[in-house]
Amino acid sequence: MTTAPVLVTGGAGFIGSHLCEALINRGHRVLCIDNLLTGNLDNLAEFWDHPNFEFQQHDVINPLSVDVSAIYNLACPASPIDYQKDPIHTLQTCIQGAINMLELARLNRAPILQASTSEVYGDPEQHPQVEGYWGNVNPIGPRACYDEGKRAAETLFYDYHRTHHVDTRVIRIFNTYGPRMKADDGRVVSNFITSALRGEPLTIYGDGTQTRSFCYVDDLVRLIMACMDCDVRHESPINAGNPEEYTMMELATLVMDLVDRDCSVVHLALPVDDPKKRRPDISNAKKILNWEPRVGVREGLFRTKNYFQQATEKPIQTQSFKSAKVELEVAHA
Ligand code: NAD
Ligand code: UDP
Repeated sequence: MTTAPVLVTGGAGFIGSHLCEALINRGHRVLCIDNLLTGNLDNLAEFWDHPNFEFQQHDVINPLSVDVSAIYNLACPASPIDYQKDPIHTLQTCIQGAINMLELARLNRAPILQASTSEVYGDPEQHPQVEGYWGNVNPIGPRACYDEGKRAAETLFYDYHRTHHVDTRVIRIFNTYGPRMKADDGRVVSNFITSALRGEPLTIYGDGTQTRSFCYVDDLVRLIMACMDCDVRHESPINAGNPEEYTMMELATLVMDLVDRDCSVVHLALPVDDPKKRRPDISNAKKILNWEPRVGVREGLFRTKNYFQQATEKPIQTQSFKSAKVELEVAHA
């Protein structure tokens, strides 16, 4: 009897596509579901034809009935401009999506991992952030659809664990970057690199003294898999990030240096509720998962810059061809 596939929701996105690829490379059968809101079939091009890979277009706010052996729940837009476009759908994705995937885990007796976020800490009053910190979130601001949605999803994961004994794992991801980020997702790393490559001014929101800690995508994917492999029932969520902390001014200088261009910077208004600082305490990831980041920020940014450089050089991928293939498969289903 063949084992049921592992399910990756949001698998056509930036992090999800790397996770699908790593799971296939480990010999898993992977079922990727995605509504293609912010994801892109081009992200799946390298393993699209792999016999252990299957794609279904599906929105997690609707129930799903499939046999699966494990679930990685990543479906949700991650960039502030993307998640604020349709805030109600973002909340539905976080909450109804979590319920649907937890029900699927319950019925399949499958372990399930939730991609939560450092946004649950809001604008933190504790630094660095430890998992025991409850956060400082504005529940009615423009970021709340995501922050509160992800907080409610965490609650659901712990309630399904307590009520239905579902094997749940929650990780809180800090700002992650790398190849397959969308050039136009409005995030700081993609904005700085693409502007620097074009020789345009780098846009710094506010005075640029706010800090973030940046994790390279390969490191994050290793943590995600280690967390699913781990037998320890997690008492608490686990911070997933690289504690190297930079101000946005420092990041701008680093990017200009890597691209070898002396661009100017322009200061624009700071978005509402923009957190002032972010740095994960990763003691739990080290202790429980024996994990720590391996790719430093300079090296990671260099690889990401190369990706954006190559992506602008190569012709637009055949999105319409792949979409046609999906439609065909849906029609035959
Ligand atoms: P992404 O936007 O590239 O990927 C999200 C994927 O989910 C996309 O492919 C999108 O089409 C899909 N999706 C969105 N809503 C959906 C829905 N209702 N049904 C089905 N699919 C849906 O973002 P990412 O950076 O790859 O983030 C992946 C996960 O990690 C998200 O849950 C995000 O909240 C979390 N996360 C990411 C970061 C980061 O820095 N990238 C930080 C914290 C948390
Ligand atoms: N930011 C910036 N210039 C940009 C894009 C973002 O200065 O072109 C700032 C943004 O205000 C925030 C930080 O960079 O303080 C990180 O933003 P991002 O959207 O990458 O992630 P998040 O705020 O969700 O951590």
